[in-house]
Amino acid sequence: MNFDRSDEQQMLAETARRVGEKFGLDYWRELDAKKEFPSAVWREICAAGLCGIAIPEEYGGASLGMAEVAIAVENLCAAAGGSTLSQMFMCNPVFGGVTISRFGTEAMKRELLPALVAGDALFAMALTEPDAGTNSLALKTFARADGNGWRLNGQKIWITAVPQATKMLVVARTRKLEEVGRKTDGISLFLIDVDRAGLTHQAIEKVGTHTLPSSAVFFEDVRVEGHELVGTLDGGFRELLDVLNTERIVTTAGLVGTAELAIRLAADYARERKIFNGAAIGSYQGIQFPLAEAHIQLECARLMNQKAAALYDQGKPYGSEANMAKWLAGHAAGLATDRAIQTLGGMGYAKEYHVERLWRDARLFRVAPVSEEMILNYVAQHDLGLPRSY
Ligand SMILES: Cc1cc2nc3c(=O)[nH]c(=O)nc-3n(C[C@H](O)[C@H](O)[C@H](O)COP(=O)(O)OP(=O)(O)OC[C@H]3O[C@@H](n4cnc5c(N)ncnc54)[C@H](O)[C@@H]3O)c2cc1C
Repeated sequence: MNFDRSDEQQMLAETARRVGEKFGLDYWRELDAKKEFPSAVWREICAAGLCGIAIPEEYGGASLGMAEVAIAVENLCAAAGGSTLSQMFMCNPVFGGVTISRFGTEAMKRELLPALVAGDALFAMALTEPDAGTNSLALKTFARADGNGWRLNGQKIWITAVPQATKMLVVARTRKLEEVGRKTDGISLFLIDVDRAGLTHQAIEKVGTHTLPSSAVFFEDVRVEGHELVGTLDGGFRELLDVLNTERIVTTAGLVGTAELAIRLAADYARERKIFNGAAIGSYQGIQFPLAEAHIQLECARLMNQKAAALYDQGKPYGSEANMAKWLAGHAAGLATDRAIQTLGGMGYAKEYHVERLWRDARLFRVAPVSEEMILNYVAQHDLGLPRSY
Protein backbone atom coordinates (compact mmCIF):
# COMPACT_ATOMS: atom_id res chain seq x y z
CA MET A 1 0.00 0.00 0.00
CA ASN A 2 1.52 3.29 -1.04
CA PHE A 3 0.07 6.60 0.14
CA ASP A 4 2.66 8.77 -1.60
CA ARG A 5 1.57 10.94 -4.47
CA SER A 6 3.31 10.52 -7.81
CA ASP A 7 5.13 13.57 -9.21
CA GLU A 8 2.29 13.99 -11.66
CA GLN A 9 -0.30 13.92 -8.88
CA GLN A 10 1.68 16.41 -6.84
CA MET A 11 1.89 18.72 -9.84
CA LEU A 12 -1.86 18.44 -10.38
CA ALA A 13 -2.54 19.25 -6.72
CA GLU A 14 -0.32 22.32 -6.91
CA THR A 15 -1.86 23.49 -10.20
CA ALA A 16 -5.37 23.09 -8.81
CA ARG A 17 -4.46 24.91 -5.61
CA ARG A 18 -2.92 27.76 -7.61
CA VAL A 19 -5.92 28.13 -9.92
CA GLY A 20 -8.29 27.91 -6.95
CA GLU A 21 -6.40 30.55 -5.00
CA LYS A 22 -6.34 32.92 -7.96
CA PHE A 23 -10.12 33.16 -7.59
CA GLY A 24 -10.21 33.71 -3.86
CA LEU A 25 -13.00 33.72 -1.28
CA ASP A 26 -14.21 37.23 -2.24
CA TYR A 27 -14.72 36.15 -5.86
CA TRP A 28 -17.02 33.37 -4.70
CA ARG A 29 -18.87 35.60 -2.22
CA GLU A 30 -19.60 38.13 -4.96
CA LEU A 31 -20.75 35.52 -7.44
CA ASP A 32 -22.92 33.88 -4.79
CA ALA A 33 -24.56 37.24 -4.00
CA LYS A 34 -25.16 37.97 -7.70
CA LYS A 35 -26.20 34.36 -8.41
CA GLU A 36 -23.71 34.39 -11.26
CA PHE A 37 -22.26 31.35 -13.01
CA PRO A 38 -18.49 30.91 -12.36
CA SER A 39 -17.44 31.22 -16.01
CA ALA A 40 -14.05 32.84 -15.40
CA VAL A 41 -12.83 30.17 -12.97
CA TRP A 42 -14.10 27.40 -15.24
CA ARG A 43 -12.22 28.88 -18.20
CA GLU A 44 -9.05 28.93 -16.11
CA ILE A 45 -9.61 25.36 -14.89
CA CYS A 46 -9.95 24.20 -18.49
CA ALA A 47 -6.95 26.23 -19.63
CA ALA A 48 -4.87 24.54 -16.92
CA GLY A 49 -5.94 21.14 -18.29
CA LEU A 50 -7.87 20.18 -15.15
CA CYS A 51 -11.18 19.49 -16.87
CA GLY A 52 -9.53 16.97 -19.19
CA ILE A 53 -7.63 14.94 -16.57
CA ALA A 54 -9.55 11.70 -17.16
CA ILE A 55 -10.43 12.27 -20.82
CA PRO A 56 -8.43 10.13 -23.28
CA GLU A 57 -5.38 11.86 -24.75
CA GLU A 58 -6.53 11.37 -28.34
CA TYR A 59 -9.49 13.68 -27.58
CA GLY A 60 -7.45 16.39 -25.87
CA GLY A 61 -7.32 15.04 -22.31
CA ALA A 62 -4.55 13.63 -20.14
CA SER A 63 -5.71 9.97 -19.95
CA LEU A 64 -5.27 9.95 -16.17
CA GLY A 65 -7.67 8.42 -13.68
CA MET A 66 -10.36 9.25 -11.18
CA ALA A 67 -7.69 9.38 -8.43
CA GLU A 68 -6.16 12.38 -10.20
CA VAL A 69 -9.58 13.99 -10.76
CA ALA A 70 -10.26 13.69 -7.01
CA ILE A 71 -6.93 15.33 -6.16
CA ALA A 72 -7.66 18.28 -8.45
CA VAL A 73 -11.23 18.75 -7.21
CA GLU A 74 -10.18 18.55 -3.55
CA ASN A 75 -7.56 21.23 -4.04
CA LEU A 76 -9.74 23.54 -6.11
CA CYS A 77 -12.53 23.34 -3.54
CA ALA A 78 -10.18 23.70 -0.55
CA ALA A 79 -8.60 26.82 -2.04
CA ALA A 80 -11.79 28.92 -1.97
CA GLY A 81 -14.63 27.58 -4.07
CA GLY A 82 -16.07 24.98 -1.72
CA SER A 83 -18.35 22.19 -2.82
CA THR A 84 -20.06 24.12 -5.63
CA LEU A 85 -16.96 23.80 -7.73
CA SER A 86 -17.19 20.02 -7.54
CA GLN A 87 -20.64 20.28 -9.16
CA MET A 88 -18.97 21.80 -12.21
CA PHE A 89 -16.86 18.65 -12.40
CA MET A 90 -19.91 16.43 -11.98
CA CYS A 91 -21.72 18.12 -14.86
CA ASN A 92 -18.77 18.34 -17.24
CA PRO A 93 -15.92 15.79 -16.94
CA VAL A 94 -18.26 13.24 -15.32
CA PHE A 95 -21.69 13.46 -16.95
CA GLY A 96 -20.22 14.76 -20.18
CA GLY A 97 -16.73 13.26 -20.15
CA VAL A 98 -17.12 9.84 -18.52
CA THR A 99 -20.41 9.13 -20.31
CA ILE A 100 -19.11 10.01 -23.76
CA SER A 101 -15.67 8.41 -23.24
CA ARG A 102 -17.20 5.13 -22.09
CA PHE A 103 -20.41 4.88 -24.05
CA GLY A 104 -20.40 7.51 -26.81
CA THR A 105 -19.95 6.90 -30.51
CA GLU A 106 -16.67 7.80 -32.20
CA ALA A 107 -18.33 10.82 -33.86
CA MET A 108 -19.63 12.02 -30.49
CA LYS A 109 -16.17 11.68 -28.94
CA ARG A 110 -14.51 13.62 -31.76
CA GLU A 111 -17.11 16.37 -31.71
CA LEU A 112 -17.65 16.84 -28.00
CA LEU A 113 -14.66 15.73 -25.92
CA PRO A 114 -12.15 18.34 -27.21
CA ALA A 115 -14.83 21.04 -26.76
CA LEU A 116 -15.50 19.82 -23.21
CA VAL A 117 -11.79 19.82 -22.33
CA ALA A 118 -11.46 23.37 -23.69
CA GLY A 119 -14.53 24.56 -21.77
CA ASP A 120 -16.43 25.37 -24.99
CA ALA A 121 -19.11 22.75 -24.35
CA LEU A 122 -20.95 22.73 -21.01
CA PHE A 123 -23.16 19.87 -19.85
CA ALA A 124 -26.24 19.29 -17.71
CA MET A 125 -27.60 15.92 -16.64
CA ALA A 126 -31.34 15.36 -16.39
CA LEU A 127 -32.39 12.31 -14.39
CA THR A 128 -34.57 13.51 -11.47
CA GLU A 129 -38.30 14.03 -11.96
CA PRO A 130 -40.98 15.36 -9.58
CA ASP A 131 -42.02 11.77 -8.77
CA ALA A 132 -38.68 10.08 -9.42
CA GLY A 133 -35.89 11.34 -7.16
CA THR A 134 -34.60 8.69 -4.78
CA ASN A 135 -36.65 6.18 -6.74
CA SER A 136 -35.17 7.13 -10.10
CA LEU A 137 -36.61 4.03 -11.78
CA ALA A 138 -40.06 5.62 -11.47
CA LEU A 139 -39.07 8.10 -14.19
CA LYS A 140 -41.78 8.81 -16.75
CA THR A 141 -40.06 10.99 -19.35
CA PHE A 142 -40.61 9.03 -22.53
CA ALA A 143 -38.81 8.96 -25.87
CA ARG A 144 -41.21 7.61 -28.50
CA ALA A 145 -39.63 6.13 -31.64
CA ASP A 146 -40.14 8.48 -34.59
CA GLY A 147 -38.48 7.64 -37.93
CA ASN A 148 -34.74 7.33 -37.36
CA GLY A 149 -34.97 9.11 -34.00
CA TRP A 150 -37.35 9.82 -31.14
CA ARG A 151 -39.81 12.39 -29.76
CA LEU A 152 -39.21 13.27 -26.12
CA ASN A 153 -41.98 14.23 -23.69
CA GLY A 154 -41.87 14.69 -19.93
CA GLN A 155 -40.57 16.79 -17.08
CA LYS A 156 -37.37 16.90 -15.04
CA ILE A 157 -36.63 18.82 -11.85
CA TRP A 158 -33.59 20.19 -10.02
CA ILE A 159 -31.34 20.08 -13.06
CA THR A 160 -28.05 21.92 -12.51
CA ALA A 161 -26.69 24.66 -14.79
CA VAL A 162 -29.27 24.33 -17.56
CA PRO A 163 -29.18 27.99 -18.77
CA GLN A 164 -25.41 27.77 -19.31
CA ALA A 165 -25.26 24.22 -20.69
CA THR A 166 -24.94 23.55 -24.40
CA LYS A 167 -25.67 19.82 -24.08
CA MET A 168 -27.99 17.85 -21.83
CA LEU A 169 -27.69 14.18 -20.99
CA VAL A 170 -31.33 13.09 -20.71
CA VAL A 171 -32.38 9.84 -19.07
CA ALA A 172 -35.66 8.63 -20.55
CA ARG A 173 -37.78 5.55 -20.88
CA THR A 174 -37.79 4.10 -24.38
CA ARG A 175 -40.08 1.28 -23.29
CA LYS A 176 -42.99 1.65 -20.90
CA LEU A 177 -42.54 0.25 -17.41
CA GLU A 178 -45.40 -2.22 -17.90
CA GLU A 179 -43.71 -3.64 -21.03
CA VAL A 180 -40.37 -4.55 -19.44
CA GLY A 181 -39.47 -7.51 -17.25
CA ARG A 182 -37.12 -5.56 -14.98
CA LYS A 183 -37.61 -1.92 -13.99
CA THR A 184 -34.02 -1.20 -15.02
CA ASP A 185 -34.80 -2.24 -18.61
CA GLY A 186 -36.26 0.09 -21.21
CA ILE A 187 -34.24 3.17 -20.16
CA SER A 188 -31.91 5.00 -22.57
CA LEU A 189 -29.50 7.95 -22.47
CA PHE A 190 -29.61 10.78 -25.00
CA LEU A 191 -27.30 13.71 -25.47
CA ILE A 192 -29.27 16.63 -26.90
CA ASP A 193 -28.84 20.36 -27.48
CA VAL A 194 -30.27 22.50 -24.70
CA ASP A 195 -31.59 25.11 -27.13
CA ARG A 196 -33.73 22.61 -29.02
CA ALA A 197 -37.35 23.42 -29.91
CA GLY A 198 -39.76 22.10 -27.28
CA LEU A 199 -37.22 22.18 -24.42
CA THR A 200 -38.02 24.87 -21.83
CA HIS A 201 -36.79 25.45 -18.29
CA GLN A 202 -37.71 27.41 -15.22
CA ALA A 203 -35.45 28.41 -12.31
CA ILE A 204 -36.02 27.09 -8.77
CA GLU A 205 -35.29 29.34 -5.76
CA LYS A 206 -33.09 27.56 -3.20
CA VAL A 207 -30.99 27.83 -0.03
CA GLY A 208 -27.51 27.86 -1.54
CA THR A 209 -25.29 26.80 -4.46
CA HIS A 210 -26.39 30.12 -5.97
CA THR A 211 -23.66 30.21 -8.60
CA LEU A 212 -25.16 27.16 -10.28
CA PRO A 213 -28.85 27.54 -11.11
CA SER A 214 -31.27 24.65 -10.63
CA SER A 215 -34.18 24.29 -13.03
CA ALA A 216 -37.32 22.42 -13.80
CA VAL A 217 -37.07 21.23 -17.42
CA PHE A 218 -39.99 20.50 -19.73
CA PHE A 219 -39.85 18.43 -22.93
CA GLU A 220 -42.72 18.86 -25.37
CA ASP A 221 -42.27 16.70 -28.44
CA VAL A 222 -38.54 17.44 -28.51
CA ARG A 223 -36.90 15.88 -31.57
CA VAL A 224 -34.00 13.53 -30.77
CA GLU A 225 -31.88 12.32 -33.68
CA GLY A 226 -30.73 8.72 -34.06
CA HIS A 227 -27.07 9.62 -33.51
CA GLU A 228 -27.89 11.29 -30.18
CA LEU A 229 -28.39 7.98 -28.37
CA VAL A 230 -25.48 7.32 -25.97
CA GLY A 231 -24.77 3.70 -25.14
CA THR A 232 -27.27 0.88 -25.38
CA LEU A 233 -30.88 1.44 -26.42
CA ASP A 234 -33.11 0.24 -23.54
CA GLY A 235 -29.98 -0.69 -21.54
CA GLY A 236 -28.89 2.80 -20.47
CA PHE A 237 -29.68 2.49 -16.78
CA ARG A 238 -26.83 0.12 -15.96
CA GLU A 239 -24.46 2.34 -17.93
CA LEU A 240 -25.75 5.37 -16.04
CA LEU A 241 -25.09 3.68 -12.67
CA ASP A 242 -21.42 3.43 -13.55
CA VAL A 243 -21.34 7.15 -14.28
CA LEU A 244 -23.27 7.98 -11.08
CA ASN A 245 -20.70 6.16 -8.96
CA THR A 246 -17.89 8.25 -10.44
CA GLU A 247 -20.01 11.28 -9.58
CA ARG A 248 -19.85 10.17 -5.93
CA ILE A 249 -16.03 10.28 -6.06
CA VAL A 250 -16.13 13.86 -7.32
CA THR A 251 -18.79 14.86 -4.76
CA THR A 252 -16.68 13.43 -1.97
CA ALA A 253 -13.56 15.22 -3.17
CA GLY A 254 -15.51 18.50 -3.15
CA LEU A 255 -16.77 17.90 0.38
CA VAL A 256 -13.33 16.95 1.66
CA GLY A 257 -11.97 20.19 0.17
CA THR A 258 -14.83 22.15 1.72
CA ALA A 259 -14.26 20.62 5.15
CA GLU A 260 -10.56 21.45 4.89
CA LEU A 261 -11.33 25.05 3.95
CA ALA A 262 -13.92 25.53 6.71
CA ILE A 263 -11.58 24.10 9.35
CA ARG A 264 -8.75 26.31 8.11
CA LEU A 265 -10.89 29.45 8.26
CA ALA A 266 -12.15 28.51 11.73
CA ALA A 267 -8.70 27.66 13.10
CA ASP A 268 -7.23 30.89 11.69
CA TYR A 269 -9.97 32.90 13.37
CA ALA A 270 -9.70 30.95 16.63
CA ARG A 271 -5.98 31.61 16.85
CA GLU A 272 -6.57 35.38 16.70
CA ARG A 273 -9.85 35.98 18.51
CA LYS A 274 -9.42 36.86 22.19
CA ILE A 275 -12.40 37.32 24.49
CA PHE A 276 -11.44 36.49 28.13
CA ASN A 277 -8.15 37.22 29.86
CA GLY A 278 -6.20 37.67 26.64
CA ALA A 279 -6.52 33.99 25.69
CA ALA A 280 -7.34 33.09 22.09
CA ILE A 281 -10.61 31.12 21.79
CA GLY A 282 -8.58 28.49 19.92
CA SER A 283 -7.02 27.53 23.27
CA TYR A 284 -10.38 26.26 24.56
CA GLN A 285 -11.11 22.57 24.10
CA GLY A 286 -14.74 23.44 23.45
CA ILE A 287 -13.55 25.14 20.26
CA GLN A 288 -10.73 22.70 19.43
CA PHE A 289 -12.44 19.34 19.86
CA PRO A 290 -15.24 19.69 17.27
CA LEU A 291 -12.75 21.02 14.72
CA ALA A 292 -10.40 18.13 15.48
CA GLU A 293 -13.33 15.72 15.12
CA ALA A 294 -14.23 17.22 11.74
CA HIS A 295 -10.59 16.91 10.69
CA ILE A 296 -10.56 13.20 11.62
CA GLN A 297 -13.74 12.65 9.62
CA LEU A 298 -12.39 14.45 6.57
CA GLU A 299 -9.15 12.46 6.61
CA CYS A 300 -11.15 9.21 6.76
CA ALA A 301 -13.40 10.36 3.93
CA ARG A 302 -10.36 11.27 1.83
CA LEU A 303 -8.77 7.86 2.39
CA MET A 304 -11.95 5.98 1.52
CA ASN A 305 -12.36 8.14 -1.56
CA GLN A 306 -8.81 7.37 -2.68
CA LYS A 307 -9.64 3.69 -2.35
CA ALA A 308 -12.82 4.11 -4.39
CA ALA A 309 -10.92 6.03 -7.07
CA ALA A 310 -8.08 3.49 -7.16
CA LEU A 311 -10.55 0.61 -7.56
CA TYR A 312 -12.35 2.46 -10.38
CA ASP A 313 -9.03 3.15 -12.12
CA GLN A 314 -8.15 -0.57 -11.86
CA GLY A 315 -11.52 -1.53 -13.36
CA LYS A 316 -12.67 -3.21 -10.13
CA PRO A 317 -16.03 -2.83 -8.35
CA TYR A 318 -16.02 0.35 -6.30
CA GLY A 319 -19.69 1.09 -5.52
CA SER A 320 -19.49 0.41 -1.77
CA GLU A 321 -16.32 2.43 -1.29
CA ALA A 322 -17.66 5.37 -3.36
CA ASN A 323 -20.89 5.40 -1.35
CA MET A 324 -19.19 5.06 2.04
CA ALA A 325 -16.74 7.85 1.19
CA LYS A 326 -19.63 10.12 0.17
CA TRP A 327 -21.48 9.41 3.44
CA LEU A 328 -18.39 10.18 5.51
CA ALA A 329 -17.58 13.30 3.53
CA GLY A 330 -21.13 14.64 3.89
CA HIS A 331 -20.77 14.32 7.66
CA ALA A 332 -17.26 15.77 7.69
CA ALA A 333 -18.29 18.82 5.67
CA GLY A 334 -21.51 19.21 7.69
CA LEU A 335 -19.63 19.17 10.98
CA ALA A 336 -16.75 21.31 9.73
CA THR A 337 -18.94 24.06 8.27
CA ASP A 338 -21.35 24.07 11.21
CA ARG A 339 -18.52 24.26 13.73
CA ALA A 340 -16.77 26.91 11.66
CA ILE A 341 -19.87 29.09 12.11
CA GLN A 342 -19.87 28.32 15.84
CA THR A 343 -16.17 29.18 16.12
CA LEU A 344 -16.68 32.53 14.43
CA GLY A 345 -19.68 33.32 16.64
CA GLY A 346 -21.77 36.15 15.17
CA MET A 347 -19.24 36.63 12.40
CA GLY A 348 -19.90 33.05 11.34
CA TYR A 349 -23.33 34.27 10.32
CA ALA A 350 -21.95 37.22 8.34
CA LYS A 351 -21.43 36.93 4.60
CA GLU A 352 -18.09 38.69 4.99
CA TYR A 353 -16.50 35.67 6.66
CA HIS A 354 -17.46 33.10 4.01
CA VAL A 355 -18.21 30.09 6.21
CA GLU A 356 -21.99 30.58 5.93
CA ARG A 357 -21.70 30.03 2.15
CA LEU A 358 -19.69 26.87 2.65
CA TRP A 359 -22.31 25.62 5.13
CA ARG A 360 -25.28 26.42 2.83
CA ASP A 361 -23.63 24.85 -0.19
CA ALA A 362 -22.32 21.72 1.55
CA ARG A 363 -25.72 20.93 3.10
CA LEU A 364 -27.04 19.97 -0.33
CA PHE A 365 -24.78 16.95 -0.55
CA ARG A 366 -26.41 15.11 2.32
CA VAL A 367 -29.54 14.96 0.14
CA ALA A 368 -28.10 14.90 -3.37
CA PRO A 369 -26.85 13.44 -5.64
CA VAL A 370 -27.55 10.44 -3.41
CA SER A 371 -29.06 10.85 0.05
CA GLU A 372 -27.45 9.56 3.23
CA GLU A 373 -30.40 7.25 3.75
CA MET A 374 -29.91 5.60 0.38
CA ILE A 375 -26.22 5.10 1.10
CA LEU A 376 -27.07 3.37 4.37
CA ASN A 377 -29.62 1.25 2.49
CA TYR A 378 -26.93 0.34 -0.06
CA VAL A 379 -24.36 -0.60 2.58
CA ALA A 380 -26.87 -2.60 4.63
CA GLN A 381 -27.89 -4.55 1.55
CA HIS A 382 -24.60 -4.97 -0.32
CA ASP A 383 -22.02 -5.04 2.46
CA LEU A 384 -24.01 -6.56 5.31
CA GLY A 385 -26.21 -8.89 3.27
CA LEU A 386 -29.41 -7.60 4.90
CA PRO A 387 -32.72 -7.68 3.03
CA ARG A 388 -33.76 -4.67 0.99
CA SER A 389 -36.10 -2.66 3.21
CA TYR A 390 -38.09 -0.82 0.52
C1 LIG B 1 -29.57 21.82 -5.71
C2 LIG B 1 -29.85 20.50 -6.33
C3 LIG B 1 -29.18 20.13 -7.50
C4 LIG B 1 -29.50 18.93 -8.14
N1 LIG B 1 -28.93 18.63 -9.37
C5 LIG B 1 -29.42 17.59 -10.09
C6 LIG B 1 -29.01 17.40 -11.45
O1 LIG B 1 -28.18 18.14 -12.00
N2 LIG B 1 -29.56 16.37 -12.15
C7 LIG B 1 -30.49 15.53 -11.59
O2 LIG B 1 -30.96 14.64 -12.28
N3 LIG B 1 -30.90 15.68 -10.30
C8 LIG B 1 -30.40 16.71 -9.54
N4 LIG B 1 -30.83 16.89 -8.25
C9 LIG B 1 -31.85 15.98 -7.69
C10 LIG B 1 -31.35 15.12 -6.55
O3 LIG B 1 -30.55 14.09 -7.06
C11 LIG B 1 -32.60 14.61 -5.79
O4 LIG B 1 -33.13 15.72 -5.09
C12 LIG B 1 -32.27 13.49 -4.84
O5 LIG B 1 -31.97 12.32 -5.58
C13 LIG B 1 -33.41 13.19 -3.87
O6 LIG B 1 -34.62 13.03 -4.54
P1 LIG B 1 -35.93 13.82 -4.06
O7 LIG B 1 -35.57 15.25 -3.91
O8 LIG B 1 -37.05 13.50 -4.97
O9 LIG B 1 -36.24 13.24 -2.62
P2 LIG B 1 -37.26 12.06 -2.28
O10 LIG B 1 -37.03 10.92 -3.21
O11 LIG B 1 -38.64 12.63 -2.20
O12 LIG B 1 -36.77 11.63 -0.81
C14 LIG B 1 -37.16 12.37 0.36
C15 LIG B 1 -36.44 11.79 1.56
O13 LIG B 1 -36.86 10.43 1.79
C16 LIG B 1 -35.72 9.61 1.94
N5 LIG B 1 -36.00 8.26 1.44
C17 LIG B 1 -36.60 7.93 0.26
N6 LIG B 1 -36.65 6.60 0.12
C18 LIG B 1 -36.09 6.06 1.23
C19 LIG B 1 -35.84 4.72 1.68
N7 LIG B 1 -36.18 3.67 0.96
N8 LIG B 1 -35.22 4.55 2.89
C20 LIG B 1 -34.89 5.64 3.64
N9 LIG B 1 -35.10 6.91 3.27
C21 LIG B 1 -35.68 7.12 2.08
C22 LIG B 1 -34.63 10.28 1.10
O14 LIG B 1 -33.34 9.87 1.50
C23 LIG B 1 -34.92 11.75 1.40
O15 LIG B 1 -34.29 12.10 2.60
C24 LIG B 1 -30.47 18.05 -7.56
C25 LIG B 1 -31.08 18.40 -6.35
C26 LIG B 1 -30.81 19.60 -5.74
C27 LIG B 1 -31.55 19.95 -4.47
